[in-house]
Amino acid sequence: MNILVVEDEAKLAEILRAYLEAAGYAVRCVDNGLAVMPAVRDWRPDLILLDLMLPGRDGLDVCRDIRAQTAIPVIMVTARTDEIDRLLGLELGADDYICKPYSPREVVARVKAVLRRLQGPALAPDQPEPAGLVIRAEAWQASLDGKPLDLTPVEFRLLTLLASQPGRIFSRDQLLDGLYDDHRVVTDRTVDSHIKNLRRKLADIRPGQDLIRSVYGVGYRLEAP
Ligand code: CA
Repeated sequence: MNILVVEDEAKLAEILRAYLEAAGYAVRCVDNGLAVMPAVRDWRPDLILLDLMLPGRDGLDVCRDIRAQTAIPVIMVTARTDEIDRLLGLELGADDYICKPYSPREVVARVKAVLRRLQGPALAPDQPEPAGLVIRAEAWQASLDGKPLDLTPVEFRLLTLLASQPGRIFSRDQLLDGLYDDHRVVTDRTVDSHIKNLRRKLADIRPGQDLIRSVYGVGYRLEAP
């Protein structure tokens, strides 16, 4: 796996290089915003660690370009916590962020987590999420048609589970297994009420269209794309 490190502080870049190489990744470093897209085209990295404040060209502009031209995952590195919503939002679409100051170990852990998530079954190309639905498991964020869904943790897990295999019917038991470590304390009715709330939130954004179908006597499924 190739990691492109975009960082203009030479010392930081070298520390990151050392840790990432020790974790088994091949690393290239660039220290200027203008050098990023050429490096991306030449080297085809598997993941980009992108500092926000860069000489030459702002990290936000660079991220926008990467997103417009590639599907390579981007982890933004920033000291500006007020920017995080925007970084992870649909406009820029970074896959994760790391706040400065950070520990190099944390960076390696995040890199591994993002790569693992992208290789996970939920994102296999033959199982795309229904059009317009975007789930960011790492950030616990979901949106429909570009509008954020304000979900409880249980609703989020429910939606993620259904979206992992669109079109598949999940029984209430299977959904409970995915929702709770110990579901002896909850009942089928619990699933029904969470599904009801989730449907209402989806319908607020897309009135008159039911993305979650109930299959009488069996369970629920998410509409296949
Ligand atoms: Ca910088």
